[in-house]
Amino acid sequence: MSEKMPVLFVGHGSPMNAIEENEFGRAWTDMGKQLPRPKAILAVSAHWETMGTKVTAMEKPKTIYDFYGFPKELYEVTYPAPGSPDLVQTVRKIIKMSEVQPDLTWGLDHGTWSVLHRMFPAADIPVVQLSLDRAKSPQQHYQLGQQLKELREEGVVIISSGNIVHNLRMVVFDDKLKFEWAESFDKKVSQWILDDDHDPIIQFEKQGHDAQLAINSAEHYLPLLYTLGLKDEGEPVSFFADKVTYGSLSMRSVKVG
Ligand code: ZN
Repeated sequence: MSEKMPVLFVGHGSPMNAIEENEFGRAWTDMGKQLPRPKAILAVSAHWETMGTKVTAMEKPKTIYDFYGFPKELYEVTYPAPGSPDLVQTVRKIIKMSEVQPDLTWGLDHGTWSVLHRMFPAADIPVVQLSLDRAKSPQQHYQLGQQLKELREEGVVIISSGNIVHNLRMVVFDDKLKFEWAESFDKKVSQWILDDDHDPIIQFEKQGHDAQLAINSAEHYLPLLYTLGLKDEGEPVSFFADKVTYGSLSMRSVKVG
């Protein structure tokens, strides 16, 4: 039996974090060095929204450049990690609440590779992406996370990638600026995480005006629910980044285990 693998939620922010020298990239690199070497990685990214749940099932997932107007160097980064037919099969078997469709069209989007390029730069660990099924309720996303638990015992690191506070309409191009509502909602969520109080996090739609501004389209928030669903009661939880930048973007990153 291998040890139980930690679970991560990474606040990914700008795609430039893949290559820019900054504290977030450094935190991801450090985390990669701390983690036990996984047999495979299952990634849940804000940038793959589907109807129905899908998994990338190709042998060599392509690097997807799903952003516009960034410097040339960013388009030159590739993340040639192999896929994993074994992991695809296991995921399809253990998820009981939905039929999981194998997908041959997607690949690794920047929610996944911008982080993995820092965390596991050799790109030699197989990676499978799990899509965000937009037909599911927040509670169902949380339950789907719970159904993935046994992967942790099988050497798989599950990394969800999004941002707890993410409102691109309110973004300002000043990385030192933070809106009060953004900071206040980020702090609230962080306290709920530390208290193991997941209900208010799942029921974010009931959390008032700050939450509405922070989660205006939810795709960056929902990946967090997978990480929390995977947490066992009493397990340690910590943050490896915790800043609000560009006014309305929280980079808070969570490690369970
Ligand atoms: Zn994003």
